[in-house]
Amino acid sequence: RTTPPPELAVRDVTVRFAGLTALDAVSFTVAPGSVHAVIGPNGAGKSTCFNVLSGLCRPASGTVRLGGTDLTRLAPHRIARLGVARTFQNIVTTEGTVADNLMLGRHALTRAGFAASALHLPRAVREQRAHRERAREIAELCGLGDLFDTPVAVLSYGDRKRVEFARALCLEPRVLLLDEPVAGMNGAERVRTAEVVRDVRERLGLSVVLVEHDMGLVMRLADEVTVLDFGRAIAHGTPEEVRRDPEVLRAYLGT
Ligand code: ADP
Ligand code: MG
Repeated sequence: RTTPPPELAVRDVTVRFAGLTALDAVSFTVAPGSVHAVIGPNGAGKSTCFNVLSGLCRPASGTVRLGGTDLTRLAPHRIARLGVARTFQNIVTTEGTVADNLMLGRHALTRAGFAASALHLPRAVREQRAHRERAREIAELCGLGDLFDTPVAVLSYGDRKRVEFARALCLEPRVLLLDEPVAGMNGAERVRTAEVVRDVRERLGLSVVLVEHDMGLVMRLADEVTVLDFGRAIAHGTPEEVRRDPEVLRAYLGT
C-alpha cells in the first residue's frame, strides 16, 4: 500500500521578527484525515506557525502546500477559500444567534452574495435556504442543534467556543486549524469538545491541525505530533513516541 500524499506540507519555513527567529526551517506534513498536534513550550513558535498556515504571516523562506497548491504567499481569504479554515484562541462570539454566526461562515461561499438575497432574487433566496440547511447540519454535528436559534450571548463559554469551531466548519474546509480549542473550558466541556472534533473529522473527512496545551487532549486526539522548541521542530511522531523522546523531555523540563 502506498501512503497517500500529504494534505498539508510545511517545508523549511523560517520566520524572523527583527533579530528573533520565531520559526527556523520548520517542516512537517499532515496526512489526509488525520489530527496533527503542534505542541511546545511558550514562545516556541506555535501561533506563528498557525499564522503562516493561514496567511497572516509571510515566511522569509520555505513553502506551505495544500495538496498540489502552493499557499505560501496567498492572502488569508484566498487560503480560506482554498480550504484552510482556522479558529482563534481568544475570539469568542457574543453577537447574534448561533444561526447568524454560522451564516457568516457561509458568507465566503455564497455566490450570489447577501445583497442579492436581500433583494429577494429567487436564485439567491434558494441559495440562502440551502446554506441555512447546511449550517443547521453543521450545528448538529457540533452539538449545537438545539441551540441553533439561541442568542450566542446566553450560551456557556464552552458552547460559544464550539460556535467558533462550527463557523470555521461552515467554510467546508479540507484542513481545520484549531488554536487551543479547549482553553478556558472545564473538564466536561473539554471531553465534549474532544468528542466533537473526533466526530467531525470522521464524518467530514477533513484534517485537523491542533495547537493545544492540554496534553491529555493531545494524547487522546492526535495521530501525530510535531514538537516545537525555540522555533525548531525538535521531534515528530505519535503521541507515545514524542512523550518518550529525550529531547522533548529536556525542552519541557528545561534540564
Ligand atoms: P507560541 O505560540 O508557541 O507561544 P509564538 O509563535 O507566539 O509562540 O512566538 C514565538 C516567538 O516569536 C516568541 O519569542 C514571540 O515573542 C515572538 N513573536 C511572535 N510574534 C511576534 C511579532 N509579531 N513580533 C515580534 N516577535 C514576535
Ligand atoms: Mg501562542
